[in-house]
Order: sequence, then structure tokens, then C-alpha cells
Amino acid sequence: MSFKSLGLSDSLLHAITKKGYTEPSPIQTKAIPPILERKDILASAQTGTGKTAGFTLPMLQILSESKQPKRRPIRALVLTPTRELAAQVYENVKEYSEFLSIESTVIFGGVNQNPQVRALRNGVDILVATPGRLLDLYNQRALSLSQVEILVLDEADRMLDMGFLRDIKKILALMPGKRQNLLFSATFSTEIKQLAGSFMTDPILVEATPKNTAAELVIQKVYHVDKVKKTSLVTKLISQGNWSQVLIFTRTKHAANKLSEKLTKNGIASLAIHGNKSQGARTKALEGFKNGTTRVLVATDIAARGLDIPLLPHVINFELPNVAEDYVHRIGRTGRAGASGEAISLVSHDEHDLVHGIEKLLRQKLQIETMEGYEPSAAPPAPKDEPRRSNGGRKREFRKGGSSQGSSGQGGQRRNEGQVGQRRTDGQGGGQRKSGGTGGQRSGGGAPRRNSDGPRSGGGAPRGNSGGQRSGNSRPNKGNRD
Ligand code: AMP
Repeated sequence: MSFKSLGLSDSLLHAITKKGYTEPSPIQTKAIPPILERKDILASAQTGTGKTAGFTLPMLQILSESKQPKRRPIRALVLTPTRELAAQVYENVKEYSEFLSIESTVIFGGVNQNPQVRALRNGVDILVATPGRLLDLYNQRALSLSQVEILVLDEADRMLDMGFLRDIKKILALMPGKRQNLLFSATFSTEIKQLAGSFMTDPILVEATPKNTAAELVIQKVYHVDKVKKTSLVTKLISQGNWSQVLIFTRTKHAANKLSEKLTKNGIASLAIHGNKSQGARTKALEGFKNGTTRVLVATDIAARGLDIPLLPHVINFELPNVAEDYVHRIGRTGRAGASGEAISLVSHDEHDLVHGIEKLLRQKLQIETMEGYEPSAAPPAPKDEPRRSNGGRKREFRKGGSSQGSSGQGGQRRNEGQVGQRRTDGQGGGQRKSGGTGGQRSGGGAPRRNSDGPRSGGGAPRGNSGGQRSGNSRPNKGNRD
């Protein structure tokens, strides 16, 4: 299959060649033709699958084929959950439209709005935006959505996770009813299906679970270590392994800052990225990480979302996330684009319950090891809640090749049949073994995620950048909302 056979124009083919792509990814092969036929599509695709080109290329073709109104009203809107993802999508739009007469811009919160307002005033065909800033500028009459022909909701599940449902509904009401809708989501939860049903017309379902992406190739290792020794162990792992690019996750902004400072003091160039950092600082940190001047990026969960860091070889969970699903997002940062990667979790005594939560979600036992010289002062506690289901006794839906299906049986170790590359490691878990360079465990393929009635919904405190417990109805703090 070639890009040309998908029906893309020469100008787009030129831009694709310039990017160095030789053939379309599975999501591109499946999504581009129906989009060019002006169909609504509901696509299941995670970051790393090439989904951005999957919607951007046909969108550009459609816009460039039709007659352009003189004053360049916004004809296509791409909504993304985070600033970083918005910036990334915009970069792609610019690159792919290099040989077309299409104008685009991006707007998101956390930065001065004036340059954004000026760019809008000049007229753009495509607007990439985060929901909060979009509504802000709409309310200031800096933009109109009355001529939008194509709407893309990118990473729709994350937008709902981040509490943007109300904003999305408001935005939908500002656009003409007759338009093409493209929804991309890593999962199809009940909420996503409800949202899609509320505004899409007979959408074509497009699923792509590529064989060689994301977590399929991730080796997972878990080390039991005392909290006070974690920084020293991280330093040792990075120095002795001579790792040049490591993404480290912490639960809180404070921990991210502290760790980054300590690593830098230990001679490992490091920067922290989280919601309290200005957009400029976040962009700079990401650039430094990508160009190799920063060896380690320490990030909180939300700050790391949507980051496109190709071929990241190592991810470290300095602290496990409170929400098991975030573990899957985190380890999905490595092993991308067909390369294998390693995800190492440092687990202190008080975090073992979190390991059990992750095991339940993955339906996979994680082997807990100790590192020589870093043996913990106490054995791991016995699991407190073995017979209890983590989602309050209800069945959880898991992704199977992009679709959801009910789980079978109750509790205990189960095989997650739908997961590409999933290896079962029956029961030897719970105990510990010394690290002897064993290969760790491979994670499952696609990201298993909670159902809408999963542990995050209801009751939890509103979630900030710090990765605290989420509530289904919560809205993120202002720092994250754009
Ligand atoms: P995305 O899932 O859109 O975030 O894309 C993930 C990465 O894959 C980005 O770095 C893209 O530049 C890259 N990419 C997208 N399409 C292709 C393709 N057909 N061949 C190779 N790389 C691609």
C-alpha cells in the first residue's frame, strides 16, 4: 500500500516524502479513504500510531480541493486535550501543508493570547486548539466557528478524563450542524460512545492495533527499594547503563522538581516538566530532551500526555501513579515505533497496593525484584485486597484489538486474550527475586483502560498535575486547563 494509492494529491505526497515516510501506517491506510469520502469516522488509535497524519492529510486535501472563501474563515477545527499535543499537531499540519495554500494556527492556554488573536485575525483555514483557550477567545469574539466544515476531536478519551466534556458540548453548539466529524480515541468507553452518538452521523468505525507499537515491546521491571534510596538507584541506573534519554515519572510537581535538581547535582542533566511550569519552560524542556542536551526529563502524568518522543528507550516510574491506568500511559512512552524499550518502576514499601492495582488492570503478575546494594529494609506487605475487585465488583471492559469486551470470571489471575504480545506469568509473582539481568516482563499490546464506571469515576478529589485520584466529573485545576 502506498500513500499515492490512498488518493492523496501530489502536493501532499511531496510533503510526505519530505518527512521520510515510505508507506502509510495501519491507521492511515484505514482512515484516509473514508475521510476523503467525507464520512464521519470514529477511530481507535493511540499516540504513536501515526494518527495525526491519518486525519491531517485527508483534511488538507479536502480543504485544498474546495473553493477557498476570500477571508479565510476557520474551516477545520482540531481539538486536543493538552497544550503539548496541540503544538505537536500544529507542527504536523504546517509540515504537511507546506506545498498547499492553506493557513493554520494553534491556540492554547498558559501563554499570552495576543499573538494568537493576531494570527486568527489574519484568517486561518485550520485551527488547532485546546478547549479552554478556544472558548476564552470565542467569548472575546476573537474567532468564529460558524463556517467549520471539519471537526477533529483528537485523544477524545483524554479530553473526557481531563473534564472537558462540558466545554466540548459548548464548542459543538457553536458550529454548523452540517460538517464532517472525526473522533480519535485510544479507547471507546461508554462515555466516548455516548459523546460520539450525540453529534456524529453514521460514523465509520476505524480500528488500528498495529503489531509493533506501544507497549507490546516494553520490558517491565519492578524494583522494591526504600524510598530514601530511590534517587541514588535512579542515578546508578542511568549512569551505569549510560542511558542518554530517560523519561522519569513522579506523582507530584514537587517530587519532579526535587528529583530533577538532585539528578542535575549528581551530574545528570535533567529538567522537570509539569503544570506549574510556564508554557515556554515546558517547550524548552521538551526541545532540550529531544535534541539531547537534556538527558532526563522528569514529568508528572498530565504534563507528559501527548508528548511525541520517538524511540524513547527508558521510562522510570520513580513513584507509581495512584491511578493504575496512568501506568499504562506511562509505559506506552517507550517501545514505540517498533523499537523495544524498558519501563522500570521503583516501588517502596507503601506502594505495593498500587502494584496490585496495576496487576489487576493488566491481568498480569509483575515480578518484583531487588537490586544488589539497594535491598529494602522490610519485605513487601501482603496484598490487602486480594479478593476485592478494583472497580467495585462490576465487570470491567478491556480493549480487545481496539474494541471492548466484558471480562470473564472474577478476580485472580486471568489471561488477557485480546492483548498483542501479552505473556502470562502465572502466579510466581508476589515474591521477590534478585535482579540478575533477567529480561523483565513484556507488557500487553494496547492499553487496557477502565470502563466508565472504573475506579476513577465518582468520589475522588479533582485531579491536578500531581497525578492524584481522579473523579469522573472533576475538572483539572487551572494550571492544566487550557
Ligand atoms: P502520531 O501517532 O500521529 O503521534 O505519530 C507518531 C510518530 O509517527 C510521529 O513522529 C510521526 O511523524 C510518525 N509517522 C506518522 N506517519 C508515519 C508513517 N507513515 N511512516 C513513518 N512514520 C510516521
